[in-house]
Amino acid sequence: MRVHANDGLSATAKERLAQAGFHVTTDHVPQEQLIHHLKQERVDVLLVRSATQARKELIDACPDLKLIGRGGVGMDNIDVAYAKERGLSVVNTPASSSISVAELVMAHLFGMMRGLPQANRRMPGEGVDKFKDLKKEYEKGAEVRGRTLGVIGFGRIGQWTAKYALGCGMRVIYVDHHCAVASVNVRIGDVEVDVPVRRVAIEELLAQADAISLHVPAQKDGRPVLGAEELALVKHGVVLMNTARGGSIDEDALLQALNDGRIKAAALDVFVGEPKPRADLLAHPKLSLSPHIGAATAEAQGRIGDELADLIIAFRAKVTADQE
Ligand code: NAD
Repeated sequence: MRVHANDGLSATAKERLAQAGFHVTTDHVPQEQLIHHLKQERVDVLLVRSATQARKELIDACPDLKLIGRGGVGMDNIDVAYAKERGLSVVNTPASSSISVAELVMAHLFGMMRGLPQANRRMPGEGVDKFKDLKKEYEKGAEVRGRTLGVIGFGRIGQWTAKYALGCGMRVIYVDHHCAVASVNVRIGDVEVDVPVRRVAIEELLAQADAISLHVPAQKDGRPVLGAEELALVKHGVVLMNTARGGSIDEDALLQALNDGRIKAAALDVFVGEPKPRADLLAHPKLSLSPHIGAATAEAQGRIGDELADLIIAFRAKVTADQE
């Protein structure tokens, strides 16, 4: 079987697949040339992360394709239902990146509490001549300990974020349509403890949280989970983190709330219109930014690669068994 990983694959996974007899290629092929490449190379398995699209036209045009694997969670870049209708298998690796995303959330949170994103932007230009002025401007930092984190979407990543926040002495409240846990397990050194968390109504979360982190999937109705209506209810001076999906927060409403001071700062790892987010958003001084790197750690990519390799090997075993 021929495997093409268009958005990269860990060296270990590539090695494992090669040893199991798969022909694996990992050179990125631009989207507009991908169909031609897959057809020419008679690729059986296409692996993507979030960048490469596997849409209806690609599925129709590549008759050799049997399996599409997404390294990560959200599959909005793949026409999953259509692929399955056409007899293809589609798999993903939902749990592999949760810790890395949660750690990025905490990195943004700590940074915003001390004004680090803005200070980092200004120090190279102003740090030499205006060091004392900058020191004065950034001396109003705050600690996270004792503050309340509101988590919207308490699935895998939401719960990992809660573990980190609880470990830092924060309180955690959350909203979720389905999940209703009363505690999460936190490991401190070699000790594991169940720490209480509270499920609340969205209005209560918005009113009480000092920091809000979004961990929801793309919504079926395509609407943002935090729009103008919700942002009008937040506690004054809250900080927001969105590592979920670009559309999870209404970007216009966010800019408005940052400008009128209701939101102190916001962190965005995901954007509407990726890979071309809007320039006015990126230029806003109260934003802490990262280019969709939630899952981009060596550890997460290693776990994603291992899981994909397992899934592909199991898939081939099933195909072979079905043929016999
Ligand atoms: P998950 O399925 O484990 O959890 C999502 C939770 O959100 C579920 O419990 C669900 O009930 C809840 N939910 C859905 N809609 C809701 C709503 N409107 N209000 C409240 N709760 C709601 O998913 P996960 O693995 O935790 O991933 C969460 C998000 O993180 C996804 O959007 C995923 O695409 C994104 N993600 C981003 C990165 C990155 O690089 N930034 C990496 C991995 C995942």
